[in-house]
Amino acid sequence: MGRISKGVACSVEGCGERAVHSLSLEETRILESKGYSLAAIHGRVYLCEKHYKEWKKARKKLDKFEKWRMMR
Ligand SMILES: [Zn+2]
Repeated sequence: MGRISKGVACSVEGCGERAVHSLSLEETRILESKGYSLAAIHGRVYLCEKHYKEWKKARKKLDKFEKWRMMR
């Protein structure tokens, strides 16, 4: 979790930016549902700053949706 060492590229296909965060494959299913292709390395997905923000945004939305669903 968290910060990772230098030199790892973002796992989003076609991105190629330097990755700054690593997440588990499970956590990044959200991005795949948004249409991103991810190339996991040993079950880990590495994200650059931009895609990490995308992921956080997507997760926030999901959290809201989950809460909304639970309230009903
Ligand atoms: Zn990226």
